[in-house]
Amino acid sequence: MSNQIIIVVEHLKGNIEDITFEMLGQGKKLGGELVALLMGSGVEGLASQLGAADKVIYVDDPNLAEYNPQAYCKTVAAVVAENQPKMVMIGNTSMGMDIAGGVSVDLNMPFIAYVSGISGFTVTSSLYGGKMSVDSSASGDGFIVSVIAGSFPADAGKADGSPNVEKVAAPDLSGLSVQFKQLIEPEGGDVDITQQDILVSIGRGIQSDENLPMAEELAAKLGGAISCSRPIVDSKWLAKTRQVGKSGLKVKPKFYLALGISGAPEHIEGMKDADLIVAVNTDPNAPIFDYAHYGVVQDIFDFIPALTGKL
Ligand SMILES: Cc1cc2nc3c(=O)[nH]c(=O)nc-3n(C[C@H](O)[C@H](O)[C@H](O)COP(=O)(O)OP(=O)(O)OC[C@H]3O[C@@H](n4cnc5c(N)ncnc54)[C@H](O)[C@@H]3O)c2cc1C
Repeated sequence: MSNQIIIVVEHLKGNIEDITFEMLGQGKKLGGELVALLMGSGVEGLASQLGAADKVIYVDDPNLAEYNPQAYCKTVAAVVAENQPKMVMIGNTSMGMDIAGGVSVDLNMPFIAYVSGISGFTVTSSLYGGKMSVDSSASGDGFIVSVIAGSFPADAGKADGSPNVEKVAAPDLSGLSVQFKQLIEPEGGDVDITQQDILVSIGRGIQSDENLPMAEELAAKLGGAISCSRPIVDSKWLAKTRQVGKSGLKVKPKFYLALGISGAPEHIEGMKDADLIVAVNTDPNAPIFDYAHYGVVQDIFDFIPALTGKL
């Protein structure tokens, strides 16, 4: 086993995702050689943004041009098998969760998911929507962790260094049974919530679509727009274009008011970077309060009319 930590770089449309910088920043603190694994086709230029790493391993292949779970999984497994790192860090994202399990099985390597804290060989997983934290210890023989977005500061992984870029041949990626067809982006909606300064976001605490007008009135008084957690979209009370989170949109408003939202990691991923977060929830232990700058432990059906009245 080497003293390397391999960070699997996540990028889309020429942009490196923040989760990569979060892992680079945290990886740096852990010591050892920090290696960023960049996969794609013609994206070597992205290596210049990975200055926090000691080395970038770049695998260029047409089969890696678009995200393909099978091709990415084979490539990560090949690089990990070759380098024998002490730890592999992958985002606990849609892409990362696809890859990590496959690599773990291929290489018979332990895999710890939903990680929100790492201290040496002890890692903390955040389970049940953040309601429970579990510490696990991995053996020193190399293991994989998938890191929940928002667990570490991204800025710590943005540095100007000039790591060595080592180009590595892809493993045999012929005859893949999974083929990339199309990237489907969310349809344009009436309001682009990613461009709003003020978002009034509702969760399951709103109880019924009959209560939506109450929240919409508050949003209008604040000069903002309505957004929501996923159950609201699943119930078809609001369009998918209003959903904040992992499988929705990432927002960064100046003010995010979370009403009756528990704060599951998949929701937090989409709103953690808001400048000011205020959460209202009847449960004082709701995980959203770990991310909110201000918290109100109150029934939203008391809070909403009271604030609307004041405005
Ligand atoms: C692969 C995957 C992707 C996902 N993507 C997303 C995503 O993009 N976005 C997303 O949001 N979720 C996503 N989820 C779902 C996520 O795990 C949670 O289930 C979801 O965020 C919970 O939504 P919620 O907080 O509205 O509901 P709940 O977790 O049910 O929370 C409701 C909260 O309202 C509070 N409450 C109830 N009544 C009141 C009241 N009267 N006044 C005040 N507070 C009240 C409760 O105390 C509770 O904390 C995803 C899940 C998976 C597995």
